[in-house]
Amino acid sequence: EGIIQIHNVTKTYRNGSEALVDLNLEIQKGDFLFVTGPSGSGKSTLLKLLYGEEKPNPGQGEVIVDGAPMHRLKGDRLALLRRRLGIVFQDYKLLPRRTVEENIAFVLQAQGYTKTEITRRMPSALKVVGLQHKATCFPSQLSGGEQQRVSIARAIVSTPPILLADEPTGNLDPDNSRQILAILRKLNEAGMTIVVTSHDEAFIRSANRPMVQIRNGQILSGPE
Ligand code: ADP
Ligand code: ADP
Repeated sequence: EGIIQIHNVTKTYRNGSEALVDLNLEIQKGDFLFVTGPSGSGKSTLLKLLYGEEKPNPGQGEVIVDGAPMHRLKGDRLALLRRRLGIVFQDYKLLPRRTVEENIAFVLQAQGYTKTEITRRMPSALKVVGLQHKATCFPSQLSGGEQQRVSIARAIVSTPPILLADEPTGNLDPDNSRQILAILRKLNEAGMTIVVTSHDEAFIRSANRPMVQIRNGQILSGPE
């Protein structure tokens, strides 16, 4: 059984936009999967369903993530489940008035980790992304690539089994994109299941990883 299962999901937004149409996808534990397709094809909606930000239309599909029915969960139960996911966004979403280590600690504090545990986890999270020397910098003092590395550290500091990244290299040049990819590979080799969306098919091909192509809310090909 896949750690992520999407069964017959249709998602229509309130304005009538059909973002996903009867979509099926199964992802196994330890997979590193790319989801690609042009802008507007439904990639972001697919990830939002996985972290529970959006739901399928009522009665139109199931989304099971790490055993949990994300299509049904709300409120506290959804919040609890989300802690088992690391999420990375194109625009980093760092808190501008907090330092790198404060940004990373913030997620752990919100999850009720003790100060001792936070202090214990911080160095390894910074090391994974190569930013030990920037711990006390503010986001505005970092390059885009570095900011995205901070957001990855924040996503993985609680060692979630699954990492979801929505266009993580969308704002980055090829060099920084390759660095991000190398970090994701390392996390995957350590056992994390990773799903990454990107509209940059050339970049994904260069990564040489299984890929699913989406067009108009349906799977055109893959995983292959
Ligand atoms: P992608 O991530 O591939 O660019 P999205 O999942 O963002 O695609 O969008 C899929 C379709 O759903 C598009 O037609 C988009 O305009 C529409 N859409 C996305 N989010 C919303 C929303 N919040 N409200 C209405 N339509 C939306
Ligand atoms: P919100 O109420 O906006 O969800 P949170 O307290 O959950 O706020 O999160 C604060 C910031 O940390 C937000 O910018 C959010 O995007 C980010 N964040 C929360 N959880 C995660 C996670 N698991 N991975 C990456 N970023 C996260």
